[in-house]
Amino acid sequence: MSASQTPPKPRGRQFFANPGPTNIPDSVLLATAHHTVDFNDPAFAEVYWACIAGLKRVLKTGQEVFLYTGSGHAAWEASLVNLLSPGDVILILESGHFSQSWGRMAKDLGLEVRTVAADWRRGVEIADLQAALAADREHAIKAVGVVHNETSTGMMIPLPEVRAALDATGHPALLLADTISSLGSLDFRMDEWGVDAAVGGSQKGLMLPTGLSFTGVSRKALKAHETARLPKHYFNWGAMMQRPLKSFLGTVPTSFFFGLQESLRLMEQEEGLDNVLARHTRLARAVRAAVQHWSGNNGPQLFCTNPARMSDSVTAVLMPEGHDADALRRVAMQRFNLSLGGGLGPLGGRLFRIGHLGDLNEPMILGTLATVELAIKVGGVPHQPGGVDAALASLAA
Ligand SMILES: *Cc1c(COP(=O)(O)O)cnc(C)c1O
Repeated sequence: MSASQTPPKPRGRQFFANPGPTNIPDSVLLATAHHTVDFNDPAFAEVYWACIAGLKRVLKTGQEVFLYTGSGHAAWEASLVNLLSPGDVILILESGHFSQSWGRMAKDLGLEVRTVAADWRRGVEIADLQAALAADREHAIKAVGVVHNETSTGMMIPLPEVRAALDATGHPALLLADTISSLGSLDFRMDEWGVDAAVGGSQKGLMLPTGLSFTGVSRKALKAHETARLPKHYFNWGAMMQRPLKSFLGTVPTSFFFGLQESLRLMEQEEGLDNVLARHTRLARAVRAAVQHWSGNNGPQLFCTNPARMSDSVTAVLMPEGHDADALRRVAMQRFNLSLGGGLGPLGGRLFRIGHLGDLNEPMILGTLATVELAIKVGGVPHQPGGVDAALASLAA
């Protein structure tokens, strides 16, 4: 193709409707662009400890937090190597691509992985979890791993029900929860729900660049850490506790904390955490209303078929048989400069995902839905036109 035939580059900022990374508010971007400071300087320590206190409020915990320079995968790894020993059994609740990936990591680290199998569209039966725990009379299972919000399928797993299954069986396993795409967008309460390790990352609900991750850690987990024998170095909580900032064995990524300070201010002071969650619920309903409308005429439909578990931070949309989700995403990206999430793992090409978490408002949601409907139309995908009107009705209600 000669240069003259290359399609023109779309104008405007790339419209970003991915479930992670997410849009970064301008004030957070500006705060992140901070000149270098000495991370041992008391002036920085003040910013740092204010961020830690804020992070604990968002996690709803009065216990410990450890942080890592690395994406969510780093905190996943930290939660395993600090709590478990070679050959230990971890029971993973199957939810989709992310539960599988966390399980693969556990296996690679030398753990024995058991799974509570689940239909990815309906989600795990808590009764199956309870049965697996009850059957484990010797308490071989040392940890239960659950992805609070399965970003690949748009499904939320109710953590209080998971906690209740552990309590009902009197099972002492640690509860590990991946909150990477739920923290700051869905209700999460680490202490109240008895979560022992809460895995979080910067680039989703917290509206920051990618590269900072952390774990909220319970006192019970700290106790388990003392005897956990999986090899670790950078992630070693014990070593971190010896450092002045009680985290980070190496250089502290200071810019993140100037950004985090601002994103916490936006969430807690400017909007209020409860309002942040309510906004996610409101926008998610509008997205689902549009998709449910499109599903007429054998159009694209909601992947999650369990109304109680539909995620308020991401919606996965299943394409009609014979239509490629990635072709639709290419139309959206190349013609309209709209980035949508794709299907992960076995769902590649079968679905696309609309992220509705983080720094997002009605015009952005409507822009995304209108552009998706446009891409569906020009892509020749069957659907019932008028999904955007359904979203408008939902938002106006
Ligand atoms: C994004 C995500 C991850 C992976 O995090 P990275 O930052 O990409 O390493 C893990 N779990 C869930 C639920 C996610 O949404």
